[in-house]
Amino acid sequence: MDTVDVNVTNANLERVLSVMDKFLAERYNESCACPRCRCDIAAIALNYLPPHYIVESATGREYGSPWVMVETAVTEAIDRVMENPNHPQSKASFVQPDADRSSPIMS
Ligand SMILES: [Zn+2]
Repeated sequence: MDTVDVNVTNANLERVLSVMDKFLAERYNESCACPRCRCDIAAIALNYLPPHYIVESATGREYGSPWVMVETAVTEAIDRVMENPNHPQSKASFVQPDADRSSPIMS
C-alpha cells in the first residue's frame, strides 16, 4: 500500500492564521500576541466563518472563505480578545513599574 500524503483540514484555519499573523504584526502591533491570545483569536475567527473542510493533497489549495471574510472575522476576533483577554491584562512587552520586586508570591 502506498503512503498517500493526504489530510483532512479546515481550509479556513490556514487563512485565519496567516491573516492573524499579518494583522498582529501590522495594524494590531500593540495587541497582545501571546500564544493564549493567538489561540483565542483563531478560535473566535474560525467560529465566525463557515467550516470549510477539505481533503488536503498535493494539488490545489485555493479553498476556504473569501479573504475579505477571513479578514473581517480576524478583526472582530482580535477586538474581542483584546477587550476581554483570557489572562490578566498586562503590557508584558513594556516596562513594569514594579519589576524589581517582582516576586508574585502572596504572603
Ligand atoms: Zn495574551
